[in-house]
Amino acid sequence: MKIILVKATLAAAASALASLAAVALIVPAIGGVVDGNAWLMCILCPIVVAFPASTYTFWQADRLRRAHSELARAHAQLAAAHRRLGEKASRDDMTGMLNRESFFERLDRQRESAGRGALLIVDADHFKMINDRYGHLAGDEALLEIAAAIERAVRKGDFVGRIGGEEFAAFLVGAHDQEAARVAERIRREVEQILFRPEKSDAVPLTVSIGGISCAPGATVSELMRSADKQLYEAKARGRNRVRLVPGISEAA
Ligand code: GH3
Ligand code: MG
Ligand code: MG
Repeated sequence: MKIILVKATLAAAASALASLAAVALIVPAIGGVVDGNAWLMCILCPIVVAFPASTYTFWQADRLRRAHSELARAHAQLAAAHRRLGEKASRDDMTGMLNRESFFERLDRQRESAGRGALLIVDADHFKMINDRYGHLAGDEALLEIAAAIERAVRKGDFVGRIGGEEFAAFLVGAHDQEAARVAERIRREVEQILFRPEKSDAVPLTVSIGGISCAPGATVSELMRSADKQLYEAKARGRNRVRLVPGISEAA
């Protein structure tokens, strides 16, 4: 408020000066004479009008500026909340990995932009048995351990998701056949090495089967999924706890 009053005072003083200058120049030019009272009115009138008018104008401008900056702050908070919500909606609540929709969306984008890479589907073996024997909560713990093992085994820049109950997927960005096979085997081994002891019982072995396809640009996400799924089925049929990986659709064609 102090600044507003100072600004209004300056505006009123400027008006009085302008009024004095105008009267001093114009009245003699048209043959008139400015006497003592006229000088007083020249100073008083602008001050009486300009001071309240300027105070009101500066006050309104100040309010507008404050409202504008509050609006900008609220907008920034809203944008941040929107970002957080979007991020939360794209994640699986339990593991924090990308959820199914987000994984496939990202895979789709990746296929369009970059191209080469390998898709792995990782499915926990005989998981129903873990739930049946040790309960659903222990099953959840096992799933968290498996998810962490997968995260440990993939490379920086790869992305992973939980695409089903006990089913995960990883896209190994830019990986060629050998590199993909190495990472897939690393995942299998990391899971196998988990020391899972539900409620302090003896260690319960955890294993996964992995089906994968490495691919050059061109293959669609559904083609990749179908091929990786087929390999996963093979890995299960051949005894589980193993990796089945084939060269990419476009390369093989
Ligand atoms: P397979 O080796 O053939 O994959 O056998 P499986 O028992 O793992 O496969 P199946 O599809 O028969 O069973 C999957 C089980 O995974 C059944 C389901 O209750 C369990 N499961 C899925 N999601 C969750 C979860 O979020 N928490 C727990 N605890 N269990 C889950
Ligand atoms: Mg399973
Ligand atoms: Mg499954």
